[in-house]
Amino acid sequence: MIYKQRLIMKTFCGRANPTTGAMEWLEEDENYDYHQEIARSRYADMLHDKDRNMKYYQGIRAAVSRVKERGEKAIVLDIGTGTGLLSMMAASAGADFCYAVEVFKPMANAAVKIVEKNGFCDKIKVINKHSTEVTVGPDGDMQCRANILVTELFDTELIGEGALPTYEHAHKYLVQEGCEAVPHRATVYVQLVESKRMWSWNKLFPVCVEAEDGEKIVVSPSEMENCPGVPSVCDIQLNQMPSSDFTVLSDVVTMFSVDFSKPVRSASTYYRVQLEPVKSGKAQIVLSWWDIDMDPSGTINCTMAPYWVKSTSAFQWRDHWMQCVYFLPSEEPVLQGEKVYLTACRDEYSVWYKLQKARGEDNKADVCVESPVCRCQAHLLWNRPRFGELNDQNRTRQYIKSLMNVLRTDSVCLCISDGSLLPVLAHYLGAKQVFTLENSAVSRSVMEKFFKANHLEDKIKILEARPESLTSSHLEDKKISVLVGEPFFTTSLLPWHNLYFWYARTAVCKHLASNVTVLPQSASLHMMIVEFQDLWRIRSPCGICEGFDVRTMDDMIKSSLDFRESKEAEPHPLWEYPCKSLSDPLEVLIFDFRETVPQHCLSTEGSVNLLRKGKSHGAVLWMEYHLTADISVSTGLMQISNEKQDSYLGFESPKDASSVDKGTNERMRADYLHVCEGKALHRRVFFAVVWVLGYVSSDMHPGDWTSSFSPSSGFCSSAAA
Ligand code: SAH
Ligand code: ZN
Repeated sequence: MIYKQRLIMKTFCGRANPTTGAMEWLEEDENYDYHQEIARSRYADMLHDKDRNMKYYQGIRAAVSRVKERGEKAIVLDIGTGTGLLSMMAASAGADFCYAVEVFKPMANAAVKIVEKNGFCDKIKVINKHSTEVTVGPDGDMQCRANILVTELFDTELIGEGALPTYEHAHKYLVQEGCEAVPHRATVYVQLVESKRMWSWNKLFPVCVEAEDGEKIVVSPSEMENCPGVPSVCDIQLNQMPSSDFTVLSDVVTMFSVDFSKPVRSASTYYRVQLEPVKSGKAQIVLSWWDIDMDPSGTINCTMAPYWVKSTSAFQWRDHWMQCVYFLPSEEPVLQGEKVYLTACRDEYSVWYKLQKARGEDNKADVCVESPVCRCQAHLLWNRPRFGELNDQNRTRQYIKSLMNVLRTDSVCLCISDGSLLPVLAHYLGAKQVFTLENSAVSRSVMEKFFKANHLEDKIKILEARPESLTSSHLEDKKISVLVGEPFFTTSLLPWHNLYFWYARTAVCKHLASNVTVLPQSASLHMMIVEFQDLWRIRSPCGICEGFDVRTMDDMIKSSLDFRESKEAEPHPLWEYPCKSLSDPLEVLIFDFRETVPQHCLSTEGSVNLLRKGKSHGAVLWMEYHLTADISVSTGLMQISNEKQDSYLGFESPKDASSVDKGTNERMRADYLHVCEGKALHRRVFFAVVWVLGYVSSDMHPGDWTSSFSPSSGFCSSAAA
């Protein structure tokens, strides 16, 4: 008898649950990584980018013609073929053969299917390799070198996805000298601006506290003031930034160009331009974007220029290419007409900037070989939205007001949040003693520096413990009378992950006085059904793209979206993505921090009443924290405006949602969500968007929803289509 033995491989991934703080082991599908990557990928957005696709097609047609006119065979190398789109364009344009290289296995498989479905099997060979592994020769991946090089390897920063080393290698080994390249050239543009709003994402502003014994100013350590920050690019939808939020200090200038038809050098280098400020002000930010010319003459141009630069015609919304915000290492006053020098430094993958008053200020050798590295650690602890949140004066005022309400002269205060200013506020507002629990080495170190800079090192005690291992001796045998948290934890990705505060509060229960005040006293989860002006594109099927059937890709994304984890909400900074409400905001669940985490599940369900016609693209979810009975802060919706505006720019008018009660049409309202705080627009507000409809389709509508909170795994929410 033969025993068949099956070897079963299981992948277990350990991860900390951000809500409960507990470590969990989950069995994972072998394609686990792929699903997430595909579900959250930019492929759909690229396929919806009509402007990009059209121009690539024009550029490819022109390049194939030029080669044919020379009497040569057109051999195309398409690096990073994705769905195979650009190769299919080339084949349709008359190319003799295309080598379509794609490193990401699931995509290469999809490309094979798509190429076959569209009837290009004999013209396109899909090669599942990184381009630098591709071989040329009779037995190689490619029979011969190509004379047309087509790629789309650009990110918002142009070079962040490795375009330069890929081109460098391709010119050396994969294409002929004098080849045609589509795009032919890329150009990076910059503009110097002053912007309190954007600067607030990178530096901590002084905080003013009106204490009993006079005004106190909380300042940052000088190390923080002069820190160059982190090298990761800050890419945003600059078109959502109102012109009142920044002051232009210079004209738009060309920083550098790359000609893709010639050998490309990826080694670190720098570029320098002279700027004549058009206005005096504080130079803080370099705004940057790029364009690509699809042909040598520059007549087929695809640009990321923002609204104040570009003519309004042919505006194309896209999320896969945005604009960059670069923070200068420190702010520099500049005078109108007084020339300054702006230097762009780059390595293979990233760009950073420096501003100088005079050309010879430093010698060439040390111009900027090193990419910016955070020395103060605050930039490691606080990401940019978090900086913005800490700098939000309105928000700080709410915390100050509520602390003043609850603090007594004999208050013993414990703060549980990562890198929060609450302990400082509590001290200045008269707490007798303040402890702060800092979980990570980074937050401990930043808070130490912070307290030192404000001469509070012996006033506030940093506790190096996890909530569950806190002992009475940590607290000098005192009972906590006021427990505070913003709450904010660096491990939180989605709004309700900060409910970790509730678990921490439960874990420190035995150290709390019987009459303890917990601030916030409660939190609530809110939801609203919305129609997005544009964001729907990133998760919407494409069908036919420039005449090519890409439904295989649509199906692949759909199945990845159906995979467990992808069903979770996605965080999006919604101020960048205009939407209008189709329902009133609903309070979905309340979490009472005055009590410990309950043993049972909290759950609620209901149905959403749609108030107006529209496409229900998703539900946005956000948390509100009720600091005291009458002071709350919202991390989401700030304000609903009543502008009577019903159509979107460049967006077909919404189809009827069949669930809309006809009776409600009379009171149809156009509620535009203002997801920024008041007029000041200080911060990047994070909503979470749950794609209740899964893969967005135009004629679906939300029905019932359920939300539940389980003590072991935290919160989850779902809505049925
Ligand atoms: N060409 C497609 C997809 C562009 S996205 C389109 O225009 O619609 C870029 C793709 O290039 C990704 O799928 C990525 O996996 C792939 N890629 C990036 N660098 C690569 C390289 N050096 N070799 C092979 N594939 C690469
Ligand atoms: Zn720093």
